[in-house]
Amino acid sequence: MSKHSFFVDPGAIRGDRAELVGAVAHQIRSVLRLRPGDTVDLLDNTGFLYVARIAAVSKGGVVAELLEWRRSEAEPSVELVLYQALLKGQKMEWVLQKGTEIGINRFVPVLSERCVSRPSEAELERKRVRWETIVREAAEQSRRAIIPAVGGSRTLESACRDAAEADLALMAWEGERAVGIARAVREAGVGGRGDGRPRVALLIGPEGGFSPREAQAAKVAGVRIVGLGPRILRAETAALVGATLVLCETGDLGGCATENVDLWHHLDTDRFRHR
Ligand code: SAH
Repeated sequence: MSKHSFFVDPGAIRGDRAELVGAVAHQIRSVLRLRPGDTVDLLDNTGFLYVARIAAVSKGGVVAELLEWRRSEAEPSVELVLYQALLKGQKMEWVLQKGTEIGINRFVPVLSERCVSRPSEAELERKRVRWETIVREAAEQSRRAIIPAVGGSRTLESACRDAAEADLALMAWEGERAVGIARAVREAGVGGRGDGRPRVALLIGPEGGFSPREAQAAKVAGVRIVGLGPRILRAETAALVGATLVLCETGDLGGCATENVDLWHHLDTDRFRHR
């Protein structure tokens, strides 16, 4: 793995060479001051990773030879889409940044009943440009192979319809105590690296939560309601905990669910022995 990785325009990759211009070339030449002979990882945002050796650096751009290319292993086995109700101030940005690091594939901002943040269309568009930059930087930093997309804002109703098309659609609702994410993921059979890439949709509410009416409407639309435990989490915490639980259960966060079960099994045995 090279020290630096960059997302490049797919058109930049030609045969066994890459021709880099614009912001990436500037970064390589003037910011990082890389030289011919240095290697970089190039990502074309389709999931492929190219290891490239810089051949020439000039004002016009950077030319690199591709040494090898392969499908990156950085992407989770499931496509996780987070439908996040709009949050105030920097909380939304925090969710986008950390969610990208964890492995969320797409973000959809949602307008729900109790959203405190209600930006105008123009403000939303400005925010979206900023959100895209945050996600891109987080993707580069965390070595993702794709830049998660930030979709246009939707009403909760439209978000539920969209989410229900996934292989598994979940809404975290603090009123739910019986069913957790691990169970919902297991029952839907979306875990593990089987054929295809199942899509999991996760809906998280705003600071004030989803109303019971909204939770009911989501259920009718085909979204499964899940709890995140007996404590009330801040919305931004809930987003990350929810995403973590999904990706843990599908085996995409290092330790997979089965390993955890084994661990608990041993702990339990020890505890009983000491009693
Ligand atoms: N209405 C709540 C707070 C909502 S928390 C109150 O003030 O009491 C914001 C969002 O985080 C919720 O809409 C839900 O999606 C999620 N969330 C937080 N804690 C949760 C829990 N224990 N179980 C399920 N979802 C939770």
